[in-house]
Amino acid sequence: TEQKLLKAEALNVVGELAAGVAHEIRNPLTSLKGFVQLIQNQTDEFDQYLTIILTEVDRIEHIIKEFLVLSKSNSQNFMMSSVTDIINDTVDLLNTQAIMKNIEIKKDLEDQIPLVFCDPMQLKQVFINFLKNAIEASAVGDCVEINMKLSRNKDFLHVQIRDYGCGMDETVMKKIGKPFFTTKDEGTGLGLMVSTNIIKHHNGRLDVKSKKGKGTMFTITIPIH
Ligand code: ADP
Ligand code: MG
Repeated sequence: TEQKLLKAEALNVVGELAAGVAHEIRNPLTSLKGFVQLIQNQTDEFDQYLTIILTEVDRIEHIIKEFLVLSKSNSQNFMMSSVTDIINDTVDLLNTQAIMKNIEIKKDLEDQIPLVFCDPMQLKQVFINFLKNAIEASAVGDCVEINMKLSRNKDFLHVQIRDYGCGMDETVMKKIGKPFFTTKDEGTGLGLMVSTNIIKHHNGRLDVKSKKGKGTMFTITIPIH
């Protein structure tokens, strides 16, 4: 437990640093963007270069945003919450993105799930990350499933997110959750790291099964008390 405490402490420091750095970078970035747009409005010269600058600035902004999420995952706000509500909210939120790929998100949530002592905003962030990854991994027309059930002795909650998409080979599986590991052009490689940290803060567990070309299933297990 001593080591656990040290690790939690280290995560806090990283989170605070990340938040500080992110805020410091955000302001100059905004002014950089403003001036580039100003130049673009004044002249047609160098238009291609200026567009590239703006795209790259947008990319930095995107990374900073995910960093701020990471730092927020350290300021906890635990309360008795309905995980069913959290999942329903998350699915509503991601349905637009799913519909654009003609993907159906199928929910199968056991009734009579007790309230859980958790941070609802953080858990929502976790479900968003996993569902987003599942949608991104899927082909057009696939379906993505999210299930929730109680363990037999009713002291754990299991949430499974399954897709029938590209899957992962062993080299990718070993690297997931490491900061900045991504196989996507537009990825940040922060989603699974943030999610893993949040699950740890809930004394939970994360399991993954994946087969290249077949799909992936993530199982999040959190204690109810
Ligand atoms: P990002 O989504 O920005 O790449 P993540 O931390 O969310 O960052 O995911 C890291 C990597 O893990 C992804 O780039 C992808 O290679 C792999 N991955 C995560 N979820 C899935 C999934 N459901 N199916 C296939 N690969 C996945
Ligand atoms: Mg992701």
